[in-house]
Amino acid sequence: MISVIVPCYNEEASIPIFYQAMEAVRLEMGEVFEYIFVNDGSKDQTLAVLREVSSKDPAVKYLSFSRNFGKEAALYAGLKESTGEFVTVMDVDLQDPPRMLIEMKTMLDADAELDCVGTRRVNRDGEPPIRSFFAKLFYALMNKISQVEVVDGARDFRLMRRQMVDAILEVSEYNRFSKGIFAWVGFETKYLPYQNVERVAGETSWSFWSLLSYSIEGIINFSEAPLNIASFVGFFTFLLSLFLMVVVVVKTLVFGDPTIGWPSTICIILFLGGLQLMTIGILGKYLAKVFMETKKRPIYLIKEKNK
Ligand code: UDP
Ligand code: MG
Repeated sequence: MISVIVPCYNEEASIPIFYQAMEAVRLEMGEVFEYIFVNDGSKDQTLAVLREVSSKDPAVKYLSFSRNFGKEAALYAGLKESTGEFVTVMDVDLQDPPRMLIEMKTMLDADAELDCVGTRRVNRDGEPPIRSFFAKLFYALMNKISQVEVVDGARDFRLMRRQMVDAILEVSEYNRFSKGIFAWVGFETKYLPYQNVERVAGETSWSFWSLLSYSIEGIINFSEAPLNIASFVGFFTFLLSLFLMVVVVVKTLVFGDPTIGWPSTICIILFLGGLQLMTIGILGKYLAKVFMETKKRPIYLIKEKNK
């Protein structure tokens, strides 16, 4: 059986289209599917649509959160509920082409060593160029400074074996950056390239700023580089100040110069003040993560489910 996990946030229009497309693929594959739709606190008729779809097909499960907890939480909830030997996670807007599942399953069947087949967008047509630019920058940076390798353009859309899903579920941290977690657990993963597809209905819930803060989350969660840079810059500034101290003392003794330079003093004060605030800010980012982790709050809360 294949568990299909689908996070939904304000997707009333996409769900029926997605379900139809998936049913066609299921018949073609001749597999048993278990759908797990996760309603992530939608403000539209998503829940009503899910009730309707699930009433007609016993293979459709749904969970409904008490509020919007974010896609990462929805994925985690779905993985937890899944029972299939294979598990796939898909967006409901058909940006993850359902027909790719056929090839993904064939690849897993053919190679027992393979644990996961992921997907990778090779272009970003239809996306604002500025967003693509920052996305590229993010992947380059992330791969340089973090312990995990995140393939450029990799989607969350993937077909995994049970073993890998159980490993992901063991990573029960509150701050979830799924792309990083998928990479962190390891296992043998191959990526299928495909051309970007535009959303079938509804609209994206990610603004430029939410994506920016998401990428900062990713870096903070999987890298200590910002802390190292802060310490390094601090140490370097300290060395520089030692050197300057010697210069000032020697200059005064040898040339008898009175110390002049109010403007330069102000510049140095501002420079160091700014550096310190920035460093404290970086520390604060990590501390905030520790704060949220130690609270051990649940990752999501379910208000309603059908099974
Ligand atoms: N999604 C979610 N919770 C959120 C935001 C998005 O469950 O808070 C779901 C959404 O319904 C969709 C998937 O995550 O199935 C991807 O979202 P979207 O298509 O808006 O992102 P994009 O493809 O534009 O990156
Ligand atoms: Mg989308």
